[in-house]
Amino acid sequence: MSPLRIAIVGFGKIARDRHVPAIAATEGAVLSAIADPNASLSGVPHAATLDELLRDGPPIDAVALCTPPQVRGDLAARALAAGKHVMLEKPPGVSVAEIEQVSTSAAAAQRTLFATWHSRFAPAVEPARQLLAGRRITAVRITWKEDVRVWHPGQAWIWQPGGFGVFDPGINALSILTRILPQPLSVTSAELAFPANCGAPIAASLTVSDAAGLPISAEFDFRQTGLQTWEIDFDTDQGPVTLSSGGAKLSVGGEPRVDAVKAEYPALYRRFLELTASGTSDVDLAPFRLVSDAFVRGRRSTVEPFEDAT
Ligand code: NAP
Repeated sequence: MSPLRIAIVGFGKIARDRHVPAIAATEGAVLSAIADPNASLSGVPHAATLDELLRDGPPIDAVALCTPPQVRGDLAARALAAGKHVMLEKPPGVSVAEIEQVSTSAAAAQRTLFATWHSRFAPAVEPARQLLAGRRITAVRITWKEDVRVWHPGQAWIWQPGGFGVFDPGINALSILTRILPQPLSVTSAELAFPANCGAPIAASLTVSDAAGLPISAEFDFRQTGLQTWEIDFDTDQGPVTLSSGGAKLSVGGEPRVDAVKAEYPALYRRFLELTASGTSDVDLAPFRLVSDAFVRGRRSTVEPFEDAT
């Protein structure tokens, strides 16, 4: 079978760090082109925009949309209209309604739409899901704190409306949570801290629950220096279970059970190939709904302006 010819649209940090090596490591996938206003990769055909790529570029079967989220839904609609399969980086777009429209367009065009949640493919997430399926969970605490200056230097889009601020990493935690807890969850309260000069929050505290009242708390903070924390603690009827390092590590009752190197993106591309081969889509908007609800529910406070180091 001929390989899936993929164009990366938006050639920034995640495209360079993860998508290029993952495509190279995936049998049946090939990087055929890049569309980005400024960035390119030696030896790979380049266009400044998706439209230019579709008009003048080499033949492609699919696009991986690695732009900031504000433009992703529109690009997805254009790619689908041109008959291409679409992989969406997370968060999939700017609103749930936008991506539901894109999803309907994908079905009508009979093309694959894959809304990726890379953290769900972290090595300890599936073992945790299986273990916790056999236990009664009594409480969940998410602590997702990182230094925005280290992980998102110079990324102005993250502070603009639709850029998600601290929910850009926070939605990764919520993607793991909603994978492990498949029942519907809702945000019961939220506190959002907006820097005086930004259109997106730098920190957020959420309480979340299921229909049975399971207490879930989430602390997201972009101001963490030193030790970085990406952890989910589950209290269960058989003792504590902790996912840490963003889902790379699992401990059960304090004993290490999984400690593996993350290889999320090759798994994402294997999944994309499965979906395109079977003519199906994978669009789960549960993490996105929680973030949207937090913005609606959230009590907002203004904190000191954010100045990027670069
Ligand atoms: P980034 O470094 O700012 O890269 C985004 C790239 O997209 C830039 O080169 C930008 O060009 C380009 N772009 C903007 N609008 C475009 C358009 N209409 N058509 C084509 N290219 C366009 O951002 P990033 O860190 O890679 O993040 C991108 C997405 O990946 C985000 O949704 C993020 O949540 C997700 N993600 C990031 C990470 C991470 O560690 N960075 C991890 C997982 C997922 P200009 O800069 O010239 O505007």
